[in-house]
Amino acid sequence: VNRFLRASVALHVAAACSVAVRRRTWRVAAGAVLADQLLLTGAGMVPTCDWLGPNLTRLPPGPRLRQVGLSFDDGPDPLVTPVVLDLLDGAGMQASFFCIGARARRHPALVGEIVRRGHRVENHSEHHRWHFACLPLHALRREILLAQQVLGELAGRPPTWFRAPMGLRSPLLQPVLEQTGLHLASWTRRALDGVRGDAAAGSARLLRGLAADDLLLLHDGNCARTSAGRPAVLEILPELLGALRARGLCGVALPDPGDARPF
Ligand SMILES: [Zn+2]
Repeated sequence: VNRFLRASVALHVAAACSVAVRRRTWRVAAGAVLADQLLLTGAGMVPTCDWLGPNLTRLPPGPRLRQVGLSFDDGPDPLVTPVVLDLLDGAGMQASFFCIGARARRHPALVGEIVRRGHRVENHSEHHRWHFACLPLHALRREILLAQQVLGELAGRPPTWFRAPMGLRSPLLQPVLEQTGLHLASWTRRALDGVRGDAAAGSARLLRGLAADDLLLLHDGNCARTSAGRPAVLEILPELLGALRARGLCGVALPDPGDARPF
């Protein structure tokens, strides 16, 4: 448990003790507890915040290579994922695929194909519930363990990274991840290609200020459509891969937590 959560527990205990000893302090104690709860909730609503536990937002430290992490969320999707795989093959680059367990069950061969092409499969929960950050402990654990089991079986290797649906989470998540041997990953910059169909804006969001070791987030599932009806990611990705190559950057998957960068 990190310093922020420990301080938060200490504050709750102190507030309870204070009220037990002197009832009149209840107003101050309740105010402090409420403020702390708001802070905890706020921290969980900022995807790249690390107050609730370790949270990878860039490639881990390693040799000074010109690499960026590529990640795709919400797949596998039978129409989009194969095209993404072909585009990555064409560029000779690798990526991490944060798959939804229930979708992997529907398209098991696609998970195998992701691995066969040299990419990594990671955990993005079983159902990608919109209220994931509000789930009670047992439901939260179930969302993570169900996906962990099926993805491990289909990929031939248990995922080592977890990404929360929409990046939103509660203080309950970190203990569950620790029990499961998973580590939280978010991103440095994202295309927002799951919600906005403007491919040019999506590319610009990824490329503006792009630096080595950035971790990029795109979607091969739940894709927003361009005005022409195409999944935005299929217009963003060719441009991104070309721009990476032009800048001498290579897209890679996330290495296992704690591993030296194996590249
Ligand atoms: Zn997602």
